[in-house]
Amino acid sequence: MQRTWLEVSLDRIALNYRMIQRTVGSGVQLMPVVKADAYRHGATAVSQVLEHEGAQWLAVSNLEEGKALREAGIRTRILVMADRVDTDPRAWKEFRLTPVVHDLSEIATLDADLAYHLKIDSGMGRLGTNAGIEEIISCVKGTRLEGLMTHFASSANFQSEQTRRQHERFEAICSAVENSGIRPAYLHEASTNPLHFGQAQCWRNLVRPGYAIYGYVSRGKGKVPDELLDVSPALSWKARILLVKEIEAGTPVGYGAQFVAEHPMRIGILGVGYADGLPHRLGNRGKLIAGGKLANILGAVSMDVTTIDLSAAPNLKAGDSVTLLGQEGDVVMDARQMARDAGTIAYSILCGISTRVSRIYV
Ligand SMILES: *Cc1c(COP(=O)(O)O)cnc(C)c1O
Repeated sequence: MQRTWLEVSLDRIALNYRMIQRTVGSGVQLMPVVKADAYRHGATAVSQVLEHEGAQWLAVSNLEEGKALREAGIRTRILVMADRVDTDPRAWKEFRLTPVVHDLSEIATLDADLAYHLKIDSGMGRLGTNAGIEEIISCVKGTRLEGLMTHFASSANFQSEQTRRQHERFEAICSAVENSGIRPAYLHEASTNPLHFGQAQCWRNLVRPGYAIYGYVSRGKGKVPDELLDVSPALSWKARILLVKEIEAGTPVGYGAQFVAEHPMRIGILGVGYADGLPHRLGNRGKLIAGGKLANILGAVSMDVTTIDLSAAPNLKAGDSVTLLGQEGDVVMDARQMARDAGTIAYSILCGISTRVSRIYV
């Protein structure tokens, strides 16, 4: 019997993929992002489903992730978005992986017949080249530039001009490159936000959704345009109750006695803790679903165990399970809510679920 585990719905992943494809239309290809073990949904299983759904491209962060997908038999094109091309120069061809180049000096080190994408730092100030247009053109001329891409820093924030400025900068570079006679097959800018918020000028002919594939979208800030993606989470996170007990008023609970019962209570000790990725910050403030109702986390989250209030769930007993992320009846807890309680972002909740939490596909 598992103490804590994930249940991932591959059907839900497929439905989310189709929803995004329907939204952007058939003229725009999807490159689902399966980095970080598909945001912990399992890169191999998720990639198999997406390949089956017709995805021509997948994106990962580094060579290791790309190699693992090839070793698992994935045959789509795979873009490696955040590694150096000299990490393992022979691996690109051997594993049929496509590098993203972030510095113009890397181009000359590539095999001349290896297709690559060039990332433009259009104003995020992170990966990508910030070289001038003329320099970019002279370095890519005569090479196998297959794609030009950029990434937005603030694409859910409609109070900020940053996205518009980034888009214009990227546009200027794309036009200049094309005017010089170089025609990369793909131009791509959009992750989940510009899809969800209908920023069609950024869709070009390829888009890179990650978050929405897993059923999440961000909340927009400011004057938010219509929201387009009706996706829902594919992952539930469960834990077993190891022990149930009654405690008296005045009883301390957990490290540092950060919680002390004010009245007699029924508590449950769960087999999940921060070593599984449950944020320590949820101590005394997080909630999860027990017996179809929200239950408070009591005291500190410890490495392997967490205590909750079971006063409202008198029927639950040791060996039963509770839901950290997911749904019981009409009570829902998703990574966004958990992130709010933990003072972090939902991406970090999902990617932070540790590898010792096993996964089953339902
Ligand atoms: C992670 C990532 C994405 C996917 O972003 P989501 O917000 O998860 O859709 C797209 N492009 C790049 C460059 C990324 O690093």
